[in-house]
Amino acid sequence: MSVKDHCGIFGIFNAPDAARHIYYGLHALQHRGQESSGIVTSTTDSDTGAPVMPVHRDFGLVLDVFDDPKLFDDHLIGDAGIGHNRYSTTGSSQNRANIQPLVVHHRKGNLALAHNGNLSNARELRKSFSERGTLFQTTSDSELILHLTAQSRRQKHLNQVIDALMQVEGAFSLVLLTDEHLIAVRDPNGFRPLALGRLGDPDQAGGAAYCVASETCAFDMIGAEFVRDIRPGEILVIDREGCANGGDFQSYEIPTNFGVSQCIFEYVYFSRPDSKIFGEMVDKVRRRLGVELAREAPVPEVDDDAKTPIVIPVPDSANTATLGYANECAEQGYRCRFELGLIRNHYVGRTFIAPGQDRREMKVRCKFNTVEGLLQDRTVIVLDDSIVRGTTARHLIKMLRDSGASSVHFRVSCPPVTHPCFYGMDFPNKEELLANQFDSVEEIGEWLGVDSLAYLSAEGMKRAVYGANSNNTQGYCAACFTGNYPVPVNMDASKDENEMWAPATAEAA
Ligand code: SF4
Repeated sequence: MSVKDHCGIFGIFNAPDAARHIYYGLHALQHRGQESSGIVTSTTDSDTGAPVMPVHRDFGLVLDVFDDPKLFDDHLIGDAGIGHNRYSTTGSSQNRANIQPLVVHHRKGNLALAHNGNLSNARELRKSFSERGTLFQTTSDSELILHLTAQSRRQKHLNQVIDALMQVEGAFSLVLLTDEHLIAVRDPNGFRPLALGRLGDPDQAGGAAYCVASETCAFDMIGAEFVRDIRPGEILVIDREGCANGGDFQSYEIPTNFGVSQCIFEYVYFSRPDSKIFGEMVDKVRRRLGVELAREAPVPEVDDDAKTPIVIPVPDSANTATLGYANECAEQGYRCRFELGLIRNHYVGRTFIAPGQDRREMKVRCKFNTVEGLLQDRTVIVLDDSIVRGTTARHLIKMLRDSGASSVHFRVSCPPVTHPCFYGMDFPNKEELLANQFDSVEEIGEWLGVDSLAYLSAEGMKRAVYGANSNNTQGYCAACFTGNYPVPVNMDASKDENEMWAPATAEAA
């Protein structure tokens, strides 16, 4: 699967040593963005007593960006802060100025922001600001929220921020930090997940600490407990008074013309299986996707004297769905067993590819290897969570055959991806999507080089998601499978379209 994750955000309030908690939270959310990482905290200047927001950001993984313990002892001080792992969806990934959290100081105080998603009205907003002479520091759409705040006519800082949030549209989960508040926001469609957690005893003096994160696996990392999801369209304002009152916080609602459409791909691929999003554990939903796939396209029957067929995942994102698939096939009486026939190397990074080597094939070989003894003369059913361009899948299939598999059958735990995402995921364009290059699933299977290929149907995916998450009464977006975009989109938008406005200081690192 080659769709890139988007961003991971984390914020905490009323927690001594906030930055360390954020560091661990971001570490748990590393899968949502690996290009850059940053933390900002809120404290007071020891000389002037004025509120300040120290920040540290850089390109790289969390462990590399925050590899100096002194950062936490001397610089990122305070009991509130936010953090961000970035994978760029708008604004060039090479532009240092785009690394979040963004921090500004304006007439009402300091303001920091970490954003996951895309603003769909970014183009119009940017044009209108540019025509009025506004100077942009970044090429990211997130900066627009800061300008909207700065130009709000409301008097109080909090109201200015809320005023700004009421004017943006699209797919976004946000955490904002003022000198007095941590603000968590989810767009009215609820495209991206965002959860509220609590750390410590609510009855202690000053109350517990409260945190927000893209996924609940970040809470587990710091020992916080899940409280609830931030609701679609909710602006939750976390402050000292609310912490002292057992988590009784003010909440505002962003009006909407569209219903709720949570990103179904979060369940299929993006989120970690140990996270709870949209009200249900990802593990549970992903297993159900495998179960439904087994009911629609079980393992092929083999002769009695043939070796037992093995069902293997493309690790790691397909592991859980494959367990559901293999268990259901066995339940239905098919002869098969779950095995790990592909091993993933997690320490790939940026690999040097020698001239003359097939770059794509070497990249796949650097990432995956086969367990040859297991595959020899075996019917192999390999399961992946999705196919986007198909190039990785094609190389993997060749590797399985080269390792002695007697036949290779490919199963995919979601329908064919036929449309790009305009709500914060980085998909290739429509022509590059494998499913659009052929007229039938059989033709795709031929190109991949498999003996059979089957995708989960759209109906099966729906059954799996609603079946596993029966408490959810809200809708999902499945536009990348159906082309039915729940919010009108600008099909021409490019993630680097703002680069023409890139300031001279925003050079690549
Ligand atoms: S188009 Fe696909 S990836 Fe994008 S929000 Fe909808 S379901 Fe998620």
